[in-house]
Amino acid sequence: MGFFLIFFRYICIMSFDNDLTKNADPNPLGGIAVHYNKKTIEDMEMTGKRVLVRCDFNVPQDETGAITADGRIVKSLPTIRYLMGVGARVILCSHLGRPKGTVNPKFSLGPVAVRLSELLGQPVTMAMDTVGEDARAQAAALHDGEVLLLENVRFDARETKNDPAFSEALASLAEIYVNDAFGTAHRAHASTAGVAAFLPAVCGYLIGREIDIMGSALQDPKRPFVAVLGGVKVSDKIGVINNLLEKVDTLIIGGAMAYTFDMAKGGAVGASRVETDKLAYAREMMQKAEQMGVKILLPIDNICADRFAADAIPMVCGAKGISDKFMGLDIGPLTVKLFSQAIQNAGTVVWNGPMGVFEFEAFAEGTRAIARAIAQSGAVSIIGGGDSAAAVEQMGFADKMTHISTGGGASLEFLEGLELPGIACLLDK
Ligand code: ADP
Ligand code: MG
Repeated sequence: MGFFLIFFRYICIMSFDNDLTKNADPNPLGGIAVHYNKKTIEDMEMTGKRVLVRCDFNVPQDETGAITADGRIVKSLPTIRYLMGVGARVILCSHLGRPKGTVNPKFSLGPVAVRLSELLGQPVTMAMDTVGEDARAQAAALHDGEVLLLENVRFDARETKNDPAFSEALASLAEIYVNDAFGTAHRAHASTAGVAAFLPAVCGYLIGREIDIMGSALQDPKRPFVAVLGGVKVSDKIGVINNLLEKVDTLIIGGAMAYTFDMAKGGAVGASRVETDKLAYAREMMQKAEQMGVKILLPIDNICADRFAADAIPMVCGAKGISDKFMGLDIGPLTVKLFSQAIQNAGTVVWNGPMGVFEFEAFAEGTRAIARAIAQSGAVSIIGGGDSAAAVEQMGFADKMTHISTGGGASLEFLEGLELPGIACLLDK
C-alpha cells in the first residue's frame, strides 16, 4: 500500500511537473490535442466526502457468472485504497457487458462486489439499483472509509446516451467525481463524462498513469522513437499512423496491414489480406514519411500458408514476395532481425497491433520475437491495443514493459492525438 502511494505519487509528480501545456499541438486530424495537466485524487480534500468513482469493472465471466480474470478489478485498487485511507465515502460505479439499457441479472455487478471485498479485505456493499431509492439510501448512509458499489450503469438506457438527467442523478449521490476507467474514457457517456458537468471532477491513479506515460511519450519521447504498428486493418489505424508519423523517427509496419503498404509499393502479396481502397492512403503516408525524414520499415520476408487456419502449413516467402495462392500470416525471420535491430536502439517504443495471426501458434513467432525485442530493448515501452496487450500478456512479457494500456479503443484514440471525453471533462491543474 505504502509502496503504491509513493510510486503513484512519483508518477504524478513526474507527469505534472513536465510543463506539458494543454492544447500545445494542433491535431492533424482536426480534433483537439490531448492534454495531461489534469487534477488527480491527491489534489482534492476527500476526507468525509462522498466520492463517486467510475471504474472499469467490465470483467470476463463464465456461463455461471464466475469472474475468469480479475485484472481490471485489481488495477482499480490503488485509487480505491487511497480514498478509503483518507476517509472518503467511496461510491463505485461501472458498466459490465452490454445489457442495452435494461435490468438483466446476468450483467449484475454482484460478483464484482464479492471479489472486491476479498481484495480489499473489507466488505463492499452492493446497491440494488444505480440511482434509485436503494442507491440513494446506501450512499447517504456511508461512513468514512466505507465502500459502496452501484448496480451496472448500463441497466439504464440513459447511460450510453449521455443523458444529463442521468448524469445529474449519479452526481447527486456524491460531492466529488473521480474517473478511473481508461477503457471507456473515449466514450462520452453519463458516468464517464456527463457527470463531470455536475461535480468537481479529477482522475484516479489508473487514468493518471495512462495519460502521463502515453502523453509524455507522444510529447517528449526519449529518442530514437520507434512505433511498431500491425494488426488487421489499415483502416482501423489511419489516425494512429498519421499522428505517429509526425512524432517518431522510425515506423515499423507488420501484420496484415503491411501487405497494403507492400502492394502500394508494387510488391507481390498473393492472397494476403489487403485493403485495396487504402492503397492511395498508404502511398500518401509513405510520402509523408519521406518528407518528415521518418524511416518506414516493411517486412522483407513472410511466413505464408495456402489457407487461414491453425493447422495450415507455414512456409517462408522471401524477397520475391508472395505467390498467388498464398497469404502472409506472419513476418519472416529476416524481418524479425530487421525490426529487432531498430527496436534494440530505441529510446521509446510504442507498439500497437500484432505482427501476425498470433492466435495460431504456427504464426505467432513474429509477434513473440518482437515482444521479446521490445522487452529486452531497455526502451520506454508502451503497448496499446486490446489484441497487442493480450499477446504480450499471454507470451509472458507483461512485466518487462513500461506500460500496457488498459484501454484498447481508448489507447488507439489517445495515440491518434484525439482528446478523450472522459479525460477532457476533468479539472485542469
Ligand atoms: P490491436 O487490438 O492490438 O489494436 P488489431 O485488432 O488491429 O490489434 O489486430 C489484431 C489482429 O490482427 C489479430 O487477431 C491477428 O490475428 C490479426 N493479424 C495480424 N496479422 C495478420 C495477417 N497477416 N493476416 C490476417 N490477420 C492478421
Ligand atoms: Mg483488436
